[in-house]
Amino acid sequence: MGRLDDKVAIVTGAGSGMGAQTARRFIGEGARVMLADVSIEPTQTLADELGDAACAMKLDVTSEDEWSQAVDATVAAFGGIDLLVNCAGITGMSPLEGSVEPFRKMMEVNYFGTLLGLRAVIAPMRERGGGSIVNFSSINGIAGAPATGAYVASKFAVRGITKTAALELGSAGIRVNSVHPGAIATPMTSKEVLGFDPRPYLSKLASLGRVGEPDEVAQLVVFLASDESSYCTGAEFVIDGGVLAGLSWPS
Ligand code: NAP
Repeated sequence: MGRLDDKVAIVTGAGSGMGAQTARRFIGEGARVMLADVSIEPTQTLADELGDAACAMKLDVTSEDEWSQAVDATVAAFGGIDLLVNCAGITGMSPLEGSVEPFRKMMEVNYFGTLLGLRAVIAPMRERGGGSIVNFSSINGIAGAPATGAYVASKFAVRGITKTAALELGSAGIRVNSVHPGAIATPMTSKEVLGFDPRPYLSKLASLGRVGEPDEVAQLVVFLASDESSYCTGAEFVIDGGVLAGLSWPS
């Protein structure tokens, strides 16, 4: 028996990294999943690999129209929606005295994209008598970091809307939680994308002395999606190898 048997999910950012691994784990636990991402090619490839329990569609999370289409397509394919994982996100540098554009863009994708997703699934989740929504924040939704104010602000906003949503939607049986990963080995922290390898440095920030794997986060998301977490809502789940445990002496 799977931990997500009979559940239907939308996972955003499912074409890469933690979204892709979450979709894999969900299907392994018996869910049917709409894999949604702005990049359709890798998403479709993964859905084909995962079989009949998976569908793929292009979704830019900043578009209200595309959210509406994603909800309709998921209900048409699988009969309803029980789970939403708002995983899609972007990062980048944004010094306070630099361009204001990254601040607008990251708020648009990371925060507003999450908000639109959350709003889009409320009605179908009410129809099912409840649901679970997992929003991807970050350790940067709990603590600041220099030159990344756009990302930090957007992830604080995700943490804030998670709590408000939990309060508004609890009576409908809809649980809403945020996850706060530290550095995880995905394209977002790769040399290929960044042009340098940040992982040796990031490993030193964690008391476990390494970056995390996407599957370690996906397993936490499975717990939050499943009925095992039935009394968890409005909460923040840190998964960072000990980065936020306290101050370390520089070595
Ligand atoms: P990733 O491998 O870069 O995957 C993110 C996915 O989201 C990509 O497929 C990306 O497509 C997609 N995406 C970007 N903008 C989108 C949009 N407007 N609409 C729909 N999809 C969009 O990243 P990841 O590391 O798995 O990160 C997943 C989440 O965890 C993000 O919210 C991130 O901020 C958060 N997080 C990551 C880390 C980390 O260390 N990796 C730590 C803390 C939190 P493109 O590739 O085409 O842009």
